Amino acid sequence: MLADYHTHNYLCKHADGTLEQYVQHAISLGLDEIGLSDHTPMPDNWDHEVRMTEAQFWSDYAPEVQRLQEAYRGRITVKFGLEGDFMPGTETWVKEFNAKSPFDYVIGSVHYLDDWGFDNPLFVAKYDEKDVNDIYGLYYERIRQSAESGLFDIIGHCDLVKKFGHRPTKAMEEVLRETFKVVKRSGMAVEINTSGLRKPVKEMYPSETILAILSEYGIPLTLGSDAHTPGDVGKDFGLAKALVERYGNGRISVFTQRQRSEVTV
Ligand code: ZN
Ligand code: FE
Ligand code: FE
Ligand code: ZN
Repeated sequence: MLADYHTHNYLCKHADGTLEQYVQHAISLGLDEIGLSDHTPMPDNWDHEVRMTEAQFWSDYAPEVQRLQEAYRGRITVKFGLEGDFMPGTETWVKEFNAKSPFDYVIGSVHYLDDWGFDNPLFVAKYDEKDVNDIYGLYYERIRQSAESGLFDIIGHCDLVKKFGHRPTKAMEEVLRETFKVVKRSGMAVEINTSGLRKPVKEMYPSETILAILSEYGIPLTLGSDAHTPGDVGKDFGLAKALVERYGNGRISVFTQRQRSEVTV
């Protein structure tokens, strides 16, 4: 069975389409589950230009997800997800926010290194102002902290720092092993996110180097398109499925009320 656990919608202001259009596209592809996982609001509506406000979460997002779960019952399973942001200092707020809704799962993503939105094309020039190895080092430190925080169920696009094609010049194996040992201990899953194929790096998140480590450590996998337009739901899932067969024993994780179980793809 196939489940796309990473989708956005118009509420984040940098995606298009209603939540229902994402569900309908998933049905047209014959997916078994669709997870709605728009970008979370943040404390004081920080960075609301690229995410819903907390008020919109309550007035538009949560009720619409729950309406769609009922409306499409029997045709597709709709999961109530969220793409969280890991930022040091916000943990208490995030914990309290995440406890207020019956989420099936929360993805934990690192999109910011201190105040730098490093995956935002507007700020890509900043890669050239810093040492690329320091950027990678800080990125994986944040991934480890996000796993240790206990706030999330799935590590989102775990090598997002490569998005624009910047590569470390030092060997990364030790950092990666240290990082995914922490992830393993956390019990979290790691997503195979196909959106990297649509970005300048033109590579799946994560790389096969990382997938081999995940496989060695027995870390469970989920699937996500990170669709920001309904037509991208399930994008490149044929390739992703082949990776699940190779690096995940042909099994993916699904979540219900934040409890993980495994199914065969
Ligand atoms: Zn987004
Ligand atoms: Fe993301
Ligand atoms: Fe996303
Ligand atoms: Zn994402």
